[in-house]
Amino acid sequence: MLKALLNLVFPKTCSGCRNNLLESEHLVCTFCRHDMPFTQHHLDDNNETLKKFKGRLPVEHASSIVYFHKEGIVQELIHNLKYRGKEEIGSLMGQWYVHDLKNIETLKTVTDVVPVPLHTKKLRERGYNQVEGFGKALANGLGKKYSDDVLVRTQYSKTQTKKNLAARAEIISEAFDVASTDAGTEKHFLLVDDVITTGATLEACGKALLKIPGAKVSVITIAYAHT
Ligand SMILES: [Zn+2]
Repeated sequence: MLKALLNLVFPKTCSGCRNNLLESEHLVCTFCRHDMPFTQHHLDDNNETLKKFKGRLPVEHASSIVYFHKEGIVQELIHNLKYRGKEEIGSLMGQWYVHDLKNIETLKTVTDVVPVPLHTKKLRERGYNQVEGFGKALANGLGKKYSDDVLVRTQYSKTQTKKNLAARAEIISEAFDVASTDAGTEKHFLLVDDVITTGATLEACGKALLKIPGAKVSVITIAYAHT
């Protein structure tokens, strides 16, 4: 009764289209869910996400769940996830997708699900890493370990003085390393991020992970953006 009343006064809105949600709906309305631009990447051995890494990073598997279009549902979802405190969206997307991933042979050897680490400054501002919910949902669903301490952000201070501001920002934003190259043998890391655009961040993270002897890398993102 109280819940129904509260819902009448403060209706919950869909994270994709902002229409009011029915009581039976959670986060995303039925309309948006049916309208979601799914990529079906997991069925395609030569999908677009995989192609982004060709010649840049050896990956075992790469895929994205949905297409990111300007002004679309996915843009709204990602915006809510990153800037409006709707951490649960990541978990929801992970829960939807994990059923498709369970049957993928390549992913059966995954040992750890690893999120792209957030800048400490951003983590402080936002209060959460927006990839965590997604990563944990995949880890739980696939029965793998969620490891957010494998990758670290590093900042180079030596060569910065000569670079211009933009170049410096680029270097800082793409500087990653492993906490230790002694993370164990036969590791297969499943790197996760919210959106793949150029793939530069994931490439940098993947290269860092491959410093661990014998390590393999796969990549999954919530959304794929055309560049
Ligand atoms: Zn909606």
